[in-house]
Amino acid sequence: MTATTRNLRLGLLEGDGIGPEIVPAAVEVVDAAVDAAGAAPFEWVRLPLGRSAIDTHGSPIPSSTLGALAGTDAWLLGPHDSAAYPEPYKSQLNPSGTIRKHFGLFANIRPAKAFDGAKAIVPGTDLVIVRENTQGFYADRNTYAGTGEFMPDANTAIAMGIVTRDAVEKIARTAFELAQARRRKLTIVHKANVLRLTTGLFRDVCRDIGREFPDVEIDDFHIDAMTVHLVRRADKFDVIVTENMFGDILSDLAGEIAGSLGIAPSINASLDRAMAQASHGSAPDIAGRDIANPIAMILSAGMLLQWLGARHNDAALIKAAELIETGVNSTVGNGTVTPDMGGTASTSAFGSAVAKTINGS
Ligand code: ATP
Repeated sequence: MTATTRNLRLGLLEGDGIGPEIVPAAVEVVDAAVDAAGAAPFEWVRLPLGRSAIDTHGSPIPSSTLGALAGTDAWLLGPHDSAAYPEPYKSQLNPSGTIRKHFGLFANIRPAKAFDGAKAIVPGTDLVIVRENTQGFYADRNTYAGTGEFMPDANTAIAMGIVTRDAVEKIARTAFELAQARRRKLTIVHKANVLRLTTGLFRDVCRDIGREFPDVEIDDFHIDAMTVHLVRRADKFDVIVTENMFGDILSDLAGEIAGSLGIAPSINASLDRAMAQASHGSAPDIAGRDIANPIAMILSAGMLLQWLGARHNDAALIKAAELIETGVNSTVGNGTVTPDMGGTASTSAFGSAVAKTINGS
């Protein structure tokens, strides 16, 4: 790997609801951080997605958008409100699911970190959930074509779950590498006492891969027990690896334990692509009022810069990612927060305050 010599191209998909408010706030912060860290500025590529793309392109995720994303290095995805789309779009795989499937973004990486001084159910929580994103019991994405959920008659519904050794090896390596760069502890979450074959395979393959990482301490828990452990002692966990549905549920729980789901970031990644996406939805109830909290989107963009920095061996990008995290922390620490966190700052004012903090650092 060599440090980036060209300007990286970043896709920009604002999405629905509060997306057109929180995504620009994240762009302002990213531009400030990249500038302050001395990294090459990004070339932003704005692309249609969501409700407005149905009107302009006949699809919430136009094929031209997928094609253009293939020509970018990574992208920022705002939330979408697919539940409000007209049929047939409402029943189709939603835009983020389509993108994850199209680009094989198998790893959903969702940190849960308590802010200094902000309320948290378990203060000191600093963990990362690494969720397998393509298989398991999420029947909307675990088949090559069609869906793994069907009804043979009006009163019978069947969903299938899939676990393959290849997919678990990939997610396990991602999780162990992350643990190695952190506190060297990895927890495997499964339900192998009941789903013996599927989640049993998940646990066993993770343990097999663990032999390649002898410096990482491993333990494992059933998903039900794990919810109790998180509520009682989330601060004792480092990296948690699990299958799709367990990871989806656990990461919402962990986000709330660390302070608020509204501040929980994530990226979705393959070995060569990554997408920043806040964990929360499009919040249509507060859209258009400039009051949404952009922290999750901003921190997701920061994770993306960290990922790009590691991939391109670019210390300036890694520095920019650090500036974003410290910039958000000190802005919150100064009491500049949006109404959901008890403050009066607008979405745009919060983004500008973080950018200003970074510029001054
Ligand atoms: P989805 O299914 O698309 O993930 P959801 O049904 O889980 O969405 P959200 O859109 O995440 O719901 O909203 C849940 C609640 O949290 C709403 O009251 C919303 O206003 C609030 N909320 C979500 N994101 C934010 C944010 N960034 N800032 C402030 N409030 C938010």
